[in-house]
Amino acid sequence: RVLVGTKVDENHQNWVTAYNMLTGIRVSVSRTNAKLDRELTDQDFEAKQKSTFDMYEPPSSAPSPSNSSFRQCADRFSNSAGNELVPSAKYDFKFKDYAPWVFRNLRTKFKLDPADYLMSLTGKYILSELGSPGKSGSFFYFSRDYKYIIKTIHHAEHKFLRKILKDYYQHVLDNPNTLLSQFYGLHRVKMPWGKKIHFVVMNNLFPPHRDIHMTFDLKGSTVGRDYREEDIESHPRATLKDLNWMRRKRTLELGMQKKRLFLEQLQRDVRLLQRLEIMDYSLLIGIHDLERGNEENLRDKTLRVFNPGGEDPDPANDPHTVLMRTPSKLENEKKARELRHMIKSEKPIPMGLATEKMPDTLDEPRKHSVFYSDDGGFGATHENNGPATEVYYLGVIDCLTHYGVIKKIEHFWKGLSSDSSQISALPPQEYGERFYQFIEGVTMSQEVAARARFQQEEA
Ligand code: ATP
Ligand code: CA
Ligand code: CA
Repeated sequence: RVLVGTKVDENHQNWVTAYNMLTGIRVSVSRTNAKLDRELTDQDFEAKQKSTFDMYEPPSSAPSPSNSSFRQCADRFSNSAGNELVPSAKYDFKFKDYAPWVFRNLRTKFKLDPADYLMSLTGKYILSELGSPGKSGSFFYFSRDYKYIIKTIHHAEHKFLRKILKDYYQHVLDNPNTLLSQFYGLHRVKMPWGKKIHFVVMNNLFPPHRDIHMTFDLKGSTVGRDYREEDIESHPRATLKDLNWMRRKRTLELGMQKKRLFLEQLQRDVRLLQRLEIMDYSLLIGIHDLERGNEENLRDKTLRVFNPGGEDPDPANDPHTVLMRTPSKLENEKKARELRHMIKSEKPIPMGLATEKMPDTLDEPRKHSVFYSDDGGFGATHENNGPATEVYYLGVIDCLTHYGVIKKIEHFWKGLSSDSSQISALPPQEYGERFYQFIEGVTMSQEVAARARFQQEEA
């Protein structure tokens, strides 16, 4: 899982795609951020802004494009048909930014600092790729500071997100503590040979500064929801599923008050998903065990994220050492100031500036939601107020699957062979009910469960 990633550098097969994604974000997000804030209009939800990136060779007599000449180079190109021409890119590609104003607003609602966001996403060796794509075919990339995830999505998911964007936006306004994935941007890269890649930027539920000792992805279904127990020893960080959870008789220990907060929010979120006919989502739970603490310190962890091969490189001889070093708070603040200034003055952010930023403490934004306020997560609390030894990092993920034709077909086929209430492709109403009920059951503390059993025996 999370720590196992491949650094995406020039030698990586997806380097050009990743480079184009980030260059597109850098240019289009800083362009939107540079404008004065204004009220959203209905058109903002449909809007798309196209940019064309051209490789630009500066005339040999002119100095090579440095930060300050970037703007001047840009001015040499005229706009045509609403397309913004952006020179000085390394590769030719086209980029589309969907509903840029809506996502700018969402980022504000989710309390992201605009300069921070760009800084995290637009460094040079910024991404690490998570394993190989799963059955859905999506690719996952972490920003270099580990705060954001880029997920490539299917065209159908992309169209669907655009369709529900208004409902999603309204839901976030009404539910600042929503547990649903936080979407920060929706974009498309088009390669010169025509290949289109749609992707979203979203929150990484797991913290950059804490080890996650166990991960579960729960749907409330049992069919196929099992990670082979035999494989866990060799993959201690694997994402386990419903049956593994049940086998361990795990519960979320939240105490009365937190439990109520959590279930109320989950219910509101599930109702939205049901109304929008969404299914196949899950509750992702990362568990940090305070007694085990962090087994590796942050620096080791950083190196591992980018060097999944296993051997620790010798930092002194590693050409990327400089980029992996943890910058001081002062350096970070200086960079953030520079970035804010550039955003204000509408200067495009040069690639080199927005580089490393490795938080060793958690930045403010995550603390704003109740569910992310205990060290970036939700601290376990025992019924008897005994000392809690775990922090949960949780949220509802993978929520862009519309109950469409494909799922109906799946329902039909699976229904022939299994107990049909247990398969995962249920209609959205039932899916939501089963999901909520399962999670509600999971929040029953050990004490309450024991009391319930005792009362049953007495009766
Ligand atoms: P499928 O449709 O086959 O379930 P998918 O490609 O749509 O797969 P997701 O279900 O979105 O992928 O995510 C797969 C895994 O990636 C999750 O189980 C989790 O381990 C990790 N993951 C996804 N989203 C997040 C997130 N926001 N924060 C942390 N980890 C995540
Ligand atoms: Ca999933
Ligand atoms: Ca999916």
